[in-house]
Amino acid sequence: MSFTLAIVGRPNVGKSTLFNRLVCKKLALVDDQPGVTRDLREGAARLGDLRFTVIDTAGLEEATDESLQGRMRALTERAVEMADVCLFMYDARMGIMPADEVFADILRKKSAKVILAANKSEGRAADAGVIEGFNLGLGEPIRLSAEHGEGLSEMYDVLMPIS
Ligand code: GDP
Ligand code: MG
Repeated sequence: MSFTLAIVGRPNVGKSTLFNRLVCKKLALVDDQPGVTRDLREGAARLGDLRFTVIDTAGLEEATDESLQGRMRALTERAVEMADVCLFMYDARMGIMPADEVFADILRKKSAKVILAANKSEGRAADAGVIEGFNLGLGEPIRLSAEHGEGLSEMYDVLMPIS
């Protein structure tokens, strides 16, 4: 059985970097809901012997501070509905920010199945931020570096039972 994984999280944490690393074929822009057109990208992903659909949430980057929360909420809820599991990514170098807490609340309220990923985790500078992730109450974060391709085998181990 295949599954769909949605990558969610605030702008600039590295969602698209991971999406691009996982995807072997871009499938579609998801455009069946007004307002989120072009904001969800779908791809056929490969991780080891796993094959699945991955969704990248974009469209937050150009939002203003005032519109960001509403857009985050709408997009994340939409992605959660489409996905079997969400990979909630934060920036381990920055640690947990207020916006990350907002995402955690949305995911909790939606009862989404969540994999927590501490990205930009290469090097010791990320150690404290990785630990902060436990405070979100979403379990143990996977230590990931999307840019350097680190932590993918840990991600595989978590996704394998879902497939
Ligand atoms: P998105 O807005 O969440 O989709 O984030 P992007 O994928 O566009 O990445 C935002 C920035 O973070 C870019 O400059 C990336 O090169 C950088 N980035 C992504 N992954 C990593 C990582 O693992 N380590 C570091 N140091 N930088 C990263
Ligand atoms: Mg992006």
